[in-house]
Amino acid sequence: MSTISISSVDVDTRHWIGGQRVASIETFDDVSPVDGALLGRISRGGRAEADAAVAAAKAAFPAWARLTPVERAEILHRVADNVEAHIEELSQIETIDNGSLLRSHRRGVMPRVVMNIRFFADYAVEQLKHPVFQTRGHDNVVSWDPSGVAVIITPWNAPLMLATWRIGPALASGDTVVLKPPEWAPLTASYFAQLAHEAGLPAGVFNVVQGLGVEAGAPLTENADVSRICFTGSVPTAKVIARAAAENLTPCSFELGGKSPTVILDDADLDLAVELAIEQYDNAGQVCLAGTRLLVQRGIADAFAQRFAERAAKIRQGDPRDEDTEIGPNIHLKHIERVQGFVDRAKADGATIVYGGEVNAELGSHYFKPTLVRDAQSGSEILTQEVFGPVLTMQVFDTDAEGLALANGTDFGLAAVVVSGDRKRAEAFTQHLVAGTIWVNCFFVRDLSAPFGGSKKSGIGREGGVWSFDFYADVKNTVFAPTGWK
Ligand code: NAD
Repeated sequence: MSTISISSVDVDTRHWIGGQRVASIETFDDVSPVDGALLGRISRGGRAEADAAVAAAKAAFPAWARLTPVERAEILHRVADNVEAHIEELSQIETIDNGSLLRSHRRGVMPRVVMNIRFFADYAVEQLKHPVFQTRGHDNVVSWDPSGVAVIITPWNAPLMLATWRIGPALASGDTVVLKPPEWAPLTASYFAQLAHEAGLPAGVFNVVQGLGVEAGAPLTENADVSRICFTGSVPTAKVIARAAAENLTPCSFELGGKSPTVILDDADLDLAVELAIEQYDNAGQVCLAGTRLLVQRGIADAFAQRFAERAAKIRQGDPRDEDTEIGPNIHLKHIERVQGFVDRAKADGATIVYGGEVNAELGSHYFKPTLVRDAQSGSEILTQEVFGPVLTMQVFDTDAEGLALANGTDFGLAAVVVSGDRKRAEAFTQHLVAGTIWVNCFFVRDLSAPFGGSKKSGIGREGGVWSFDFYADVKNTVFAPTGWK
């Protein structure tokens, strides 16, 4: 069987290379976190498939790169149209495959997938104007030229959204793409390839190699014909990829993990603070940006803790396909074991598990309860390492300076949330916060033209708007002399 049927859609389990389905003899299991059922077996690629995909992308590059941004945008809008027409199918597939909420996929995530394609296609046409500036009368003309084959490697927590956030600008830049989707949620990438093909994306411009990271991902990062490596995932994997990329000096864009703070100052609106804190459980805590460290100023700490506990007790955990569900399952039993380990070790170390702290057995082994940990040892792993599950910690601070030191006190710097009733105070606080994105009195407001990325160990580089094109394209400056013209 080379397909998996979900909600009357047959999703191909093979690679997509050079406009053709290609099977591997070896396969890996794809299990649904919703009920633990085996969905099917996916082609397990290795070096041969990775090399074939890069070769196909390389062969397709000259023709794709020669198109004008307007011509590319026409094709990319047709791809977006076809994706938009299949939002329901993509939502169903993604929910079964990675366990995220169906209503979020329908209303937020898949519309954003469409936007990822349209926005960058239009940006290349309308916004990438060549600024001409003069040096002693000479014109400097800057252009963003296609660079070659972009390899895109993505994680399972928002597979198609994170993939298209990279695919959109890469294709709009004139690069061709090889995508290595996550082995724990590989299906929407395959369906996207089909939709893009139906919409007229030329063969070889977009390719998918399925498989495990070390087998299918690593050879892609080692290939000398690759011009860009875009990786979203964990810090340990990024280190391995950086070493592979060093061999060919391939430029990398890394969007990595986080341990972001949600800082609640004592002049904050408590209702807002509680809602923003509860939002950090979104996607069962499997969000790189989540502000999982609640840092609360002492004057309001007790009142906040009480209201937060009342609200948390009402969180509806259940089947991600149900409209009322707020938190669904976690991705994989191995991952849940890891989350449980963090909580157990914190408890053994003297921390208080205010609620949660274990799997919700009534729902099944994939559903870890929303959890709050208090009084963890300063510097302990639960306060400094990414748990990536529905586990928040709470710490209390006295002065703003102490809050700031706590907020900045990890190796990560992806995001931060600050809640305050005083704009000037919030401005002063955020000025010294180290993070790629800071939300003040809000969360997850994202504009695709804004820079996105992580400081410290949370990443290398920024994407979004022109920053994306600065990475995918070869930025060129051509200097025209004022004289010598006939
Ligand atoms: P991971 O690093 O284990 O895997 C990510 C991808 O890399 C997968 O497709 C995997 O197959 C591949 N991979 C693994 N080893 C590889 C190798 N040696 N060479 C090439 N590819 C390899 O991460 P994960 O557990 O899938 O995802 C969770 C992580 O992703 C968390 O740390 C999370 O914070 C991070 N994340 C970051 C962002 C962001 O934008 N900053 C967004 C989402 C997730």
